[in-house]
Order: sequence, then structure tokens, then C-alpha cells
Amino acid sequence: MKGFAMLRIGEVGWIEKERPKCGPADAIVRPLALAPCTSDIHTVWEGGIGERFNMILGHEGCGEVVEVGPLVKDFKPGDKVLVTAITPDWNSLEAQAGYQMHSGGMLAGWKFSNFKDGMFGEYFHVNDADGNLALMPEGMDYGEACMLSDMVPTGFHAAELADVQFGDVVAVFGIGPVGLMAVAAAALKGAGRLIVVDSRPQCYDIAKAYGATDIVDFKAAPTEDQIMELTNNAGVDKVLLAGGDQRLFETAIKILKPGGRIGNVNYLGSGDYIQIPRVEWGAGMGHKNVLGGLMPGGRLRLEKLSRLMQFGKLDVSPMLTHKFTGFEHIEDALYLMKDKPADLIKPVVVL
Ligand code: NAP
Ligand code: ZN
Repeated sequence: MKGFAMLRIGEVGWIEKERPKCGPADAIVRPLALAPCTSDIHTVWEGGIGERFNMILGHEGCGEVVEVGPLVKDFKPGDKVLVTAITPDWNSLEAQAGYQMHSGGMLAGWKFSNFKDGMFGEYFHVNDADGNLALMPEGMDYGEACMLSDMVPTGFHAAELADVQFGDVVAVFGIGPVGLMAVAAAALKGAGRLIVVDSRPQCYDIAKAYGATDIVDFKAAPTEDQIMELTNNAGVDKVLLAGGDQRLFETAIKILKPGGRIGNVNYLGSGDYIQIPRVEWGAGMGHKNVLGGLMPGGRLRLEKLSRLMQFGKLDVSPMLTHKFTGFEHIEDALYLMKDKPADLIKPVVVL
């Protein structure tokens, strides 16, 4: 089969590979739509997860089941399915402890385009199909369905990590597709005021449509000054990090109220340390919590999040700014993601 792969750090291309084999509890899926992720860019061009050779990329997609193993109970060939980017081993001890994304070791629930070939092939393999697939709701747009692999669950995880409560003042740093979904999630969880921080005006109206109340352009003046001014020096209850780099933890600690929480879903691709400012962290006693997480993955979550789209609580369509038709365009979509033209939020390829 054909696949679009990372050949080595800094190099991508089309390759031929054997069709993946189906284990007893697994499924083989033919993609119906695919999307590249900012993480694919970190992986290929920044060496974010280290060297990989001839590894098919991609962890965002939906598809049609073509084969299942004998132990699979709830899916059969022909089913149209949603697939989660993180596919835990559900019988692992980590999953039993509630940290399925780390099943088999830290971050090891992230298998596609990390430990094995990803979705940008004519077929892809899904481990533990009953735990990691969900039936696609009737009539769901395939491109929109791809947002349930990663963008929706990751953005929503930022709001979960920060434990957004009714009426909270929440700041969201970065409103690419993940940050926009973090805004939508914080609004659904009842944030009272939602301050978004980014420099891309093309995302501002969409962020407002998802519930943002204030916009801060981080290139106009220091973010902490702008947010402290907006809040009359009170600061914010929660910070959701979905853009920028490790330097933002410093800003986040500065603007956070005592007892506040940071929910980070950003992939910190470089540098060795994160600096926490001592004084603003209450000299170690400020009750300012820092949580960062890989999104959880799994079927139940896919089913729940897809319900939000199915019943009109969440519309991901404004994020899909660039649409392609035809498998070969996965290459164009990935390069778009790398080059980030001003009008791009998320590209998607329908096969
Ligand atoms: P994206 O499209 O690059 O969006 C990030 C946004 O952050 C950009 O608009 C960027 O603006 C903005 N930004 C940069 N510096 C900033 C600053 N100092 N203050 C505020 N905003 C700033 O990325 P994405 O696709 O939404 O993904 C966001 C992150 O989530 C990535 O690191 C990705 O790898 C990660 N991710 C994590 C998981 C997980 O499971 N935890 C899953 C998927 C993705 P400019 O364009 O102007 O720089
Ligand atoms: Zn991703």
C-alpha cells in the first residue's frame, strides 16, 4: 500500500509498505478523511519525538473498517468509524489507574505516527478496536469527523485539566485549532469571562463565536500587563495553554490568582526546563497548580464528544479553512500546516 511518511527528521515522501496485519482485538481501517496536525510538524521538522525512519505520518482521521480480529465485539467490516489519535491499551495498569494515555509508559498511548505507522496510508491499524473506535453518527461530515481524533479532545482536555468552573475568568493562550476548541470547551463548562491571547486576527471572530469575551494580541504589549489591566489587577482563575512555548508558564503563573490552575496541552518541543517565577508562585506557597496532559483517547470519550457535534452544541466547521479531495493531497495539506499561511486554521483531506 501507499503511504505518506516521515523518511527521517526533516524529510517526508511517499513510500510503499505492506498493509498492516490485524491482531485478534484490532481493526484495519481504510481512511475516508485525514488531517495533518501541528504535532506532525514538530515530529518531522523539529525532531520532537526523536529520529524515525519511513514512518507513515498522521493521527487525525476517520474511516471505514475493512477487517477486524476475532475478539472484536462491536465493530465489523463496512462500519464507518471515528478514530482517536491516542489509542490506549485498555487492560494496562496505567489505564486502570485512570491514565490510559500513558498505558505502557509515559505518553505511550500515543501510537500512531510515534511507535507505529500513522493514518496517512491506504490502510491503518487500530489496536484494541472495541476500546478505541466509535461508530460515526449518521450524516456526519467526514472532514468534521476528523476533528474528533485530536483537535476536539485535546482542546477540551485543556479545560478539563484546568477544571473550569461556572463564572471563572479564563485565559486561553494560542487560538489555533486546539486553542479554539479549548475556548469552546471553557464556554461549555461555564466560564464567565474568556480572554484569548493570540496575534492572528483571522482567528479572533471564530474565537468570539466559540465564546471569547476579550482578545489580547501578545505582539502588541506584554501579555501579563494586558491581562492584569483587563482584570483590574485581579488576574485570572484558569489558564489554558494551547500555543507558544515553555516561556508562557512564567506568564501564566504571573496572571493566575492563588488557587488557580494551568491546563497545558501544548507540545513543548524544545528547551530543557520550564521556569516558574518564585515570587509570583507565592514563594512556593501560592496554591497555583500546573497540569499538563496528553489527551486521553478512547471510545467513550469519542462517543461523548461526537454527541456534542451531532446534537448541535459544537460546530467545528469554521475551523476547516482548507479542504482537499483526493488522498494525494495529504502532502499539500501537510506542507500548508508547516508553512501556516495567514488564513489557515486547519486543512482537511477527504479521500
Ligand atoms: P497552532 O495552529 O500553531 O496554534 C498555536 C497558536 O499559538 C498560534 O496561533 C500561535 O500564534 C499562538 N502563539 C504563539 N506564541 C504565543 C504566545 N506567546 N501567546 C499566545 N499565543 C501564542 O497549533 P495547534 O494545532 O492549535 O496546536 C497547539 C499545540 O497543541 C501544539 O503545540 C500541538 O503540538 C499541541 N497538541 C497537543 C496535543 C495533546 O494531546 N496534548 C494534541 C494535539 C496537539 P502565531 O502563529 O502568531 O505564532
Ligand atoms: Zn495531533
